[in-house]
Amino acid sequence: MMSQMPDKVPFLDLHSQLAPLRDEIDTAIRRVVDSCGFVLGEDVRAFEREFAASIGSRHALGVDSGTSALHLILRGLGIGPGDDVLLPANSFIASAECVSLAGAQPIFADVDPETHLLDPASVERHLTPQTKAVIVVHLFGRTAALDELLTVCRRRGVHLIEDACQAHGATYRGRRVGTFGIAAAWSFYPGKNLGAFGDAGGVTTDDDSLFQALVELRDHGQVRKYEHHRIGCTGRLDTLQAAVLRVKLPHLDSWNAARRRIAARYETSLRDSEISTPAPPRPGEDHVYHLYVVRHPQRSAVAQALTENQIGFGLHYPVPIHRTPAYAHLGQGPGSFPVSERLAGGILSLPMYPELTESHLERVTDVLRRFSLVSG
Ligand SMILES: *Cc1c(COP(=O)(O)O)cnc(C)c1O
Repeated sequence: MMSQMPDKVPFLDLHSQLAPLRDEIDTAIRRVVDSCGFVLGEDVRAFEREFAASIGSRHALGVDSGTSALHLILRGLGIGPGDDVLLPANSFIASAECVSLAGAQPIFADVDPETHLLDPASVERHLTPQTKAVIVVHLFGRTAALDELLTVCRRRGVHLIEDACQAHGATYRGRRVGTFGIAAAWSFYPGKNLGAFGDAGGVTTDDDSLFQALVELRDHGQVRKYEHHRIGCTGRLDTLQAAVLRVKLPHLDSWNAARRRIAARYETSLRDSEISTPAPPRPGEDHVYHLYVVRHPQRSAVAQALTENQIGFGLHYPVPIHRTPAYAHLGQGPGSFPVSERLAGGILSLPMYPELTESHLERVTDVLRRFSLVSG
């Protein structure tokens, strides 16, 4: 018998999510096309209502990306030149870009070695008198230490902004994230737990005046057609994307439940291997496993074993933000944020999406367990 190359295990498979929703989405897209209401059409308002209800926030606003959502929140709060905004060194670069785009200065803090998320003690150490806001990132879908962070922020009189771009549907002490800070930013980039068919994003907030500012800022600062009260931008959510998101939103909780089941399977299968799996969420915290990030001191050898076995993986993120060339001008050399720097060298993200099959999962864990024996 000829030896067969095993089929690929993709890091992410959007086709498998699309297939069962295909007819419903086609109908929704056709409805928008037939209406020709491509900009701020009825589906945008409907999605905003439905998303706000699902999160439990007073307002939701559709915007063109998660980065835009963060940027507009800062602008809406009046944060700009002369102001500092604190954020974790371990995040996707957009968490910092939004600060630079608003003309403010990003200030970094380090993360907790167990959760990989913003460490409240480091926040205390790095807050400056110019700091107007702290951006907490619920990175990988894990909820951050919100109680501790809110306490620090209240004491120092700064806003807490949630970057919830990886944490759709996650809860903290029984309440959905996105309702804890002054506002939260969401990305509906296709690979996120709730993803559109292109770039899309949203803001949730309970604050009426911030919401009104954001309504204007995302649409050229207009209060009415050609009445421009602020310098805004083209930051609106497309009606087509809103229509797609409306079909997908009702499935978010069951998709997250599937992600949790897959995470539990990984955890059991890798328990006695050399691979360090994510620490389980602490009481009151939650994890919706946007990414399943494991660690191993010989990351490149693990990566090679996966590649040889046609298994996809990711690195989230290979370089902490303060060490990227884009932020070299801040002059924060090696050792500035040691936990973030150490994590970056050892992390690796395994295939994780609700439709990941048991046989594919076993392929991944077999390779990782075998790898551990050889290297050990
Ligand atoms: C995806 C993401 C963003 C940015 O979202 P876009 O829609 O790609 O602009 C911001 N922060 C985090 C943590 C993200 O994962």
